[in-house]
Amino acid sequence: MVNSVSVIPIECKFGPTSAYAYYIDAPEPAIVDTGIASSAFQEIEAVLNQHGRRIEDIRWILLTHGHVDHLGSARAVWEKTGGRAEIVIPQKEAYLLRDRRAHIIDYKGLQGKYLDSETQEKHTAILMNDIGGDLEPTVEVADGDQISLGGEVSITVVETPGHSIGSVTFVLDGLGWAFVADAVQMYGGAKSGIPTIESPALYRQSLQRLLEEIHPKRLYLGHHFLNSSGETVSEQVDGEEVSVILRDSLEMDAKLAEMVCRHLRENVPSNPDDELYGPFKSIADELNYTGNPRNLPCAFFVTMNGYREELVGVYEK
Ligand SMILES: [Zn+2]
Repeated sequence: MVNSVSVIPIECKFGPTSAYAYYIDAPEPAIVDTGIASSAFQEIEAVLNQHGRRIEDIRWILLTHGHVDHLGSARAVWEKTGGRAEIVIPQKEAYLLRDRRAHIIDYKGLQGKYLDSETQEKHTAILMNDIGGDLEPTVEVADGDQISLGGEVSITVVETPGHSIGSVTFVLDGLGWAFVADAVQMYGGAKSGIPTIESPALYRQSLQRLLEEIHPKRLYLGHHFLNSSGETVSEQVDGEEVSVILRDSLEMDAKLAEMVCRHLRENVPSNPDDELYGPFKSIADELNYTGNPRNLPCAFFVTMNGYREELVGVYEK
């Protein structure tokens, strides 16, 4: 019975990049993540129709975390089900589903912190537009919670924070298929070239836990990421490749931690603010990073901020 479960990946366009939603074809159908506001109609409904499935039949909306490109269409999908779908989100990020304005506060404490007020305003408008509406979650989950999708199909919640403070992975029981979304990012987004990490210490712990304790047999990723050779990896990763991908992600984290620590130690406090990369210009140079942190989304400042906060006290010694 468990073996009859299939998953339909749905690529949701998001600016120059895309985010993945996944339909789980269980007795009570589920969708893991929902793209941005426009995704429900532009991609989710269309792709499901191509597979002979209906958005109206979804019974579980499972959100891995509260970022815009994962919960943006939650409200639209839920309305399509006539309000019958259960809405599941990690307890620690439920506030981001309840009130869109919470995203602005978070943004201003991360990427926005390093940008001028005009750019901040532009980003605020984009964020508001990409979230279709506020929604009250019906189930707030934490580590170890189990949800039945009908019949013998169930999922277990594994907390995998770090990319964001409350990110979770949903694991299909018996199969070991793990919907990790952005908890595993290797060398970063195919377009951005750097992983988005709010808390490096938590990100590292989550990767180690997946590798040593959870042992997933398959990963479903939130985006297309780059491996250590600079190649774009498919959204679905199987078998032996799973541990390679997890190790690649740990390797990139170690590389960033070492680099940020060294640069901060060498340059603080004399490093002047660069027009584009703020206090992190020398790190961007060493990474050969050419992205524009004034774009949205952009991992650069979020990740630099994360490592800097972790390393405060280390480089000051
Ligand atoms: Zn995210």
